[in-house]
Amino acid sequence: MSLNPDKLSVTILGSGTCVPSLKRSSCSVLMRTGGNILVFDTGAGTMRRLLEAGNEIYDVSFIFYSHFHPDHTGELASFLFSNKYPDGGRRKIPLTLSAGRGFLEFFEKLKRVYGHWIELDPGLLNIIEFDNIHGDGRRFGDFNVETLPMEHNPESIGYRITGFGGASVVYSGDTDYSDNLVVLSKNADLLICESALPDELKVKGHLTPSQAGEIAARANVGKLVLTHFYPECDEVDIKSECRKTYAGPLILAEDLMEIEI
Ligand SMILES: [Zn+2]
Ligand SMILES: [Zn+2]
Repeated sequence: MSLNPDKLSVTILGSGTCVPSLKRSSCSVLMRTGGNILVFDTGAGTMRRLLEAGNEIYDVSFIFYSHFHPDHTGELASFLFSNKYPDGGRRKIPLTLSAGRGFLEFFEKLKRVYGHWIELDPGLLNIIEFDNIHGDGRRFGDFNVETLPMEHNPESIGYRITGFGGASVVYSGDTDYSDNLVVLSKNADLLICESALPDELKVKGHLTPSQAGEIAARANVGKLVLTHFYPECDEVDIKSECRKTYAGPLILAEDLMEIEI
């Protein structure tokens, strides 16, 4: 994939859940802004998929966590440990980890378990907490981040990334039906939205295809990608369930799929 400074590009790294699957790795999304490589969530299998998508893990400059469930954070410790190999590590650029409130404590607890094994050299690791009560926003090198709380865990946030070329991509993380997700996604070029289980198997804390479609329609997004599929999703016609509420461009995520914006 070539870097285009005016365009964001997206690759689905993992379209699955906590359920082990050769087809669907745990949840993770890769985004390139031109100058930065961003990863959203690092469930099990993320590093393998990053390599398969042609990336070096040392080149990832930001990891944004939607929440702390293991299918979204499970590979963080392994990721950091890998950055220390060989002695001194091959990472030359800083890595910024960010998530909602509670992440500093989460990371301190992880360090109590792994100690220096997951500490990078001074200046190579930044940690940022976003305000997940009111929503938050920040400008980084060549992109802007906006966040709003989602309906899943207390720390859950969704992200909207806007490149300086104007393109915008929203990543929901895990969530139940959320008016905040409609607000965050308003007129976005792309909404990457969880759709964990089919309509008939709706559970609290997650969306179904028709609910994700309703959010996309209300937000008037340019394109909707459904992801975070439990195995039950592969046994029903997810697309027609989503079509009950949404008529725009629609993609069902698969691992290593590149999404045009
Ligand atoms: Zn979750
Ligand atoms: Zn999840």
